[in-house]
Amino acid sequence: MNQKVLLITPAMPQSKYSIFRQSETECTDAEVWMAVLKQYGYSVSYYDGQFSTETIEEELQQKDPAFVVVFGKLCQETAMLECCVKAKKQDPSIVTVIAGEHAQLAYRRMYQDGVDYILNGYDPVSLIYVLGGSTGRWQPNGICHKVDGVWQQIPAKPYDIRKLPHADRTVFDANRDRYRFLGLAHTASVRTAFGCPHRCTFCSVPYLNKGIVSRRDIVDIVQEIVSLQTDNIYITDDDFMTDEERVREFLAAVKEAGLHKQYICHGRPDFIASHAELIREMKEAGFAYILSGLEYISDSMLAAYGKGFTAGVNEECIRVCKDAGIRLAASFIVGPDYRAMDFRDLLRYITDHDLKYADISILTPEPGTPLYEQYKERRMTEDASQYDRCHLTVRPMHMPAPVWEMLYSMLSRRLAQRAKKSGIIV
Ligand code: SF4
Repeated sequence: MNQKVLLITPAMPQSKYSIFRQSETECTDAEVWMAVLKQYGYSVSYYDGQFSTETIEEELQQKDPAFVVVFGKLCQETAMLECCVKAKKQDPSIVTVIAGEHAQLAYRRMYQDGVDYILNGYDPVSLIYVLGGSTGRWQPNGICHKVDGVWQQIPAKPYDIRKLPHADRTVFDANRDRYRFLGLAHTASVRTAFGCPHRCTFCSVPYLNKGIVSRRDIVDIVQEIVSLQTDNIYITDDDFMTDEERVREFLAAVKEAGLHKQYICHGRPDFIASHAELIREMKEAGFAYILSGLEYISDSMLAAYGKGFTAGVNEECIRVCKDAGIRLAASFIVGPDYRAMDFRDLLRYITDHDLKYADISILTPEPGTPLYEQYKERRMTEDASQYDRCHLTVRPMHMPAPVWEMLYSMLSRRLAQRAKKSGIIV
C-alpha cells in the first residue's frame, strides 16, 4: 500500500515593505505533524514553497504521494486550494487535506472542490485518523469532511501542546542557508505555546485552540533547543513574555544547560516597559531581538483596538530595550481610519525614536474574528491573496482608496530607504 504523504506550504506573496522581507522561517506545524506521521510509520516528504525550485506539479510527479496535506495562512488560501486541485488533477485518488491555523479560523471558506478534509484543530492524530491509520481509543475531533456531498464537521477540542513531539528538522538541516530571520542566519523556529491571553481586537491569535492558551514545559523546550544544530533560535509564540516567572525559568534552564545561543522572541510593550531588569537579563542570556507590537502612537487608537496600554508605555518600552541593548523590532498598524497627517506623524515618530527595525502592516480584519464582521460594509475585496497585511482590504474612512494607497506607498518607501541605509534590508 502506498503510504506516502507529501506536506506542502505554498510560497508567501511578496510584501511591499517589511524588515522581514529577507526572512524565511519554518512552518513548525508542518514539521511537528511530519514527526507525528513518521511515528505512525508513514513515509513523509515536505515541500516548502518559499524556496523550492520545483513546481508543485513536478513535486507531485516525483513524490507520487497517496496523501497531500497543505498548510498556510489566510493570504495563502488560494494557493492552498490550488495545491489540492493540482493533486487531484494528477491522480484523483490522492487524498487532499488542509490544516494549520487558517484552517482553524476559517475552515468553511475552504469547503471547495478538490479538498477532501479540513483539520481545524491542533491535534495531529486527526491526520492519522483521516489517512486511515490506527488511532486506538482516540476520539475524532477537529475534522471537516463531506458526507454524501455535504460538508460536515466534528468540532475541534482545545489541544494540550505538551503532547506534541519535537519538530522534525530534516528539511531545516538540509537547507541551512535558507532559513534566516532578521540579522540571524540559519535560524530555527521553536514554538513554546499556543494562543495568547490578551484580546487585541484586530488579532486572530486569541481565537486559536478554542481560545485556550497551552504552554510547553520549560525543560522540554530547552531540551529541544539543545538538540538543534544552530546557534540562532526564533521563539515563534505570538507572545512569549506573558509571565515573568516562566521567562525567568527559561533563562535559568538555558544557563544550567550551558547554552550560548541567540534568541528572538515576541513580547508586549507593557510587559517590556514594566520589566526593565528582566530585559537586561534576557540580553545577557542571548536575546538579540524582541519583536513588539507598539501598533499605534496615540492613546485613542490604542484604546480603540483594545491594546490595554497607552502611548506612554510604548515610549517606556523603547527606552527599556535601548538601555538593555536589545534590538527592538517595533511593529505599527496603519489603519483605514488614517488621515494624511497620521502617515506623516508615524514616520516622524519612527525617525524621532530612531527605531531602526520599524515595521508597518495594514489593519486587515481576518475571517473568523469579530473585526471581520464589523468591517463587513467597508470590505473592498474577498481575494484572500490580498489579506497579507500589505494590501488595503477595507475602504478608507477619510479619503479615496487610491489616495490612501499612495500615502502608504510613500511611507513604505521612506521606511525602506531608512532600513537599507542601516543595512537591515538590501
Ligand atoms: S496582538 Fe499580540 S498581545 Fe494582542 S492578542 Fe494578538 S498576540 Fe496577543
